[in-house]
Amino acid sequence: MPYSVSPIGFVRSCFKEKFAIPRQPQLAPAARGVLEMLPPFDTGEAVQGLEQVSHVWLLFLFHRTLESQPRLKVRPPRLGGNQSVGVFASRATHRPNGIGQSVVRLDKVEPGRLWLSGIDLLDGTPVLDIKPYVPYADCIPAAVNGIAASAPTPIAVDWPERALAQAREHGLRLGEPLVELIEQCLAQDPRPAYQIPPPERRYGARFWDVDVRWHYPEPGRICVLETVLA
Ligand code: SAM
Repeated sequence: MPYSVSPIGFVRSCFKEKFAIPRQPQLAPAARGVLEMLPPFDTGEAVQGLEQVSHVWLLFLFHRTLESQPRLKVRPPRLGGNQSVGVFASRATHRPNGIGQSVVRLDKVEPGRLWLSGIDLLDGTPVLDIKPYVPYADCIPAAVNGIAASAPTPIAVDWPERALAQAREHGLRLGEPLVELIEQCLAQDPRPAYQIPPPERRYGARFWDVDVRWHYPEPGRICVLETVLA
């Protein structure tokens, strides 16, 4: 008999498209969202005790990249996108069963809702399970990963006055740390590593209901061009 799983809830996230979402959680602490639980998990009983926990593991479905044919090799962005490794040596979204896992900060617990930050999840992501982060077991200071040894070095993000004023205004309207969110995400350099960005090329992504556009005046440096209502 085939196994089946079904979501316990869906994430409402600041990220409305895949581009510019950090490649792991915690890289953008200002990335916030709410996990809205489905019945019968929405009454508060299933999350009782979770208020004593600062971080949780989310197990979720990469619902936008599900594939019928499993890949054996993938090309992780960390290796420049032009070198392949076995799918199980990577955290790529294209994987058998399409299951993702992220440790995220749990800011607030309400019956039926978990308020999260530091997320790397697309809006609408189906969540399969939640588990409390257990520091003594889950944190291994001596762990080694030769493919992704440390967090990527952030790149500089410049804000011309007008773009910064626009972002501050939208942040106030949304009640969200929008300037920090944009800065933290762009500092991860969302563009594929194999692309050399000519200064005239414009890039864009949507955060909450705001379209952000930027370019690279020189490699390794981002300049935000505008932050406008989508
Ligand atoms: N931390 C998770 C893990 O290790 O399983 C996710 C890592 S994966 C490399 C992170 C990327 O997944 C993000 O940059 C975003 O582009 C993509 N992503 C996030 N939510 C998704 C979803 N629901 N469907 C497809 N792709 C998604």
